[in-house]
Amino acid sequence: MKKNRGMLVVVSGPAGVGKGTICRALLAQSADIEYSVSVTTRNCRPGETEGKEYYFRTKEEFQNMIKNQEFLEWAEFCGNYYGTPKFHVERALDENKTVLLEIDIQGAKQVKELYPDGVFIFIVPPSLKELSERLHGRGTETEDIIQQRLAKAVQELNEIKNYNYIVENDYIEAAVEKIKCIITAEKCSVRRYLFDVKEE
Ligand code: 5GP
Repeated sequence: MKKNRGMLVVVSGPAGVGKGTICRALLAQSADIEYSVSVTTRNCRPGETEGKEYYFRTKEEFQNMIKNQEFLEWAEFCGNYYGTPKFHVERALDENKTVLLEIDIQGAKQVKELYPDGVFIFIVPPSLKELSERLHGRGTETEDIIQQRLAKAVQELNEIKNYNYIVENDYIEAAVEKIKCIITAEKCSVRRYLFDVKEE
């Protein structure tokens, strides 16, 4: 990472684990963190707003963005496309900001290749039973989609080894506090300073 370049923080974890809630709380408490709003082809859920949670686009529009190389990474997740627009992330890093990406494990893998010194955090549920209860309780997906998302969650738990940190989401506030501590510790890490020294 170049001197005075910001820090990329990637948060992943199974659908329904509470990543969205954790990230929203983290952003509300941290004025110095910028959220990278993704583009998706999935339908807008009640309560979501264009440009806030996502940019909602058609498959055709998404494919055009892929063609124009507008994404840092993109992935297909349970029948929909999701992608991180390149422009925003690169600008924020150039401005020495901390950028938060909430993306799935396929996207995180691609980002790790581009930004190996990013901070990769995996959120885990206290148990799979609890995850299933949360997905059903949310009431935003059909049973078929919930089953697909649960199967995907089991697959995803095997990928934890590619991450730097695990945060268990038993209580939202405790999970947010842990992420804030991780970010602070990373900003102070010798590894990060040594990267800078080498490049001078
Ligand atoms: P949801 O439909 O529940 O909002 O998100 C489904 C999954 O897509 C979640 O695991 C979420 O982290 C992931 N996701 C959201 N935005 C992106 C993105 O830009 N890229 C990738 N690869 N995954 C994303």
